[in-house]
Amino acid sequence: MPVDSILANPVFFRHVLEELYDGVYIVDTSRKILFWNKGAERITGYTSEKVLGKCCADNILMHVDNRGKKLCLEGCPLHETLKDGLDREVSVFLHHSDGYRVPVLVRISPLRDSEGRIIGAVEVFSDNTKLDRSMRTIRKLEKEAFRDPLTSVMNRRYGHTFISLKLHEMKSLELSPLGLLFLDIDHFKKFNDLYGHQVGDNVLVMVAATLKNILRSEDLVCRWGGEEFVIALPESSLSMLENVAERIRILVESSIFTENMDSMRVTVSIGGSLGRVDDSADTLINRSDQMMYRSKQAGRNMVTIEGVS
Ligand code: GH3
Ligand code: MG
Ligand code: MG
Repeated sequence: MPVDSILANPVFFRHVLEELYDGVYIVDTSRKILFWNKGAERITGYTSEKVLGKCCADNILMHVDNRGKKLCLEGCPLHETLKDGLDREVSVFLHHSDGYRVPVLVRISPLRDSEGRIIGAVEVFSDNTKLDRSMRTIRKLEKEAFRDPLTSVMNRRYGHTFISLKLHEMKSLELSPLGLLFLDIDHFKKFNDLYGHQVGDNVLVMVAATLKNILRSEDLVCRWGGEEFVIALPESSLSMLENVAERIRILVESSIFTENMDSMRVTVSIGGSLGRVDDSADTLINRSDQMMYRSKQAGRNMVTIEGVS
């Protein structure tokens, strides 16, 4: 039989829809289910006898979004498509006949008659379980791989990549210079010796939180090493760099931690520098480190920005 005549046969299309691996169902304008394929049976556990003729608003599948909102009652994407004729794609959880929730990716399109009037809609859905699980795992791993476990700011590896990338953007897009601050806690060894390593760890967490709290969303703070942090401020200026560094210095200096009735303070020494067109991440970081060293030599609890007297 020639392919043309097969394609002209509606039975053929029904058969293809029936056998599709994805779930497919068709509703009329009152959301009554008129077609339910084998894929839909496989994914939901409901046979076509159970659902045909039922209204999907009767809540058999009980679609919920990832916050648990019941979509059949409000915000049903199928209902929306029947109203406005637009295609939709949403990730939802539906109800399996055995009671558990199945994550699915749902695509909805309107069905129209020859005059273009909406006469129903088709929903195609695929089992999102494996994809969903692996995406969540990947995101979790990504976060863990680039975060410092103690302070939960980004780690040195991420920081280095971020700075290289921002320097490249600065040069290629001719942006204002990338600002960089290098921060080192003063006399931290003595602090540890006096109060113990655990209290020292708490201080590192506190300093990291202070840094995160005063930075803009486009800035980055990373833990560079033991008690050293690097802060990158895209599209910066000397006055901005000096301003931010001074605020950090004062905020840390004025923070008091109490541990077993003892009140403690730490101070930080900061160095800073603006990125130049001939800079690499390493040269910019090294210059800022040298400025930090000058702050140490000048007595600690100080800010030194290259080019600011
Ligand atoms: P300076 O003012 O010259 O920076 O003196 P410092 O004592 O801070 O510098 P030094 O580099 O001699 O010592 C750094 C100390 O930081 C050594 C180590 O005990 C402490 N340190 C490094 N990493 C950690 C950590 O993860 N937790 C704790 N509690 N201490 C750490
Ligand atoms: Mg140090
Ligand atoms: Mg130190």
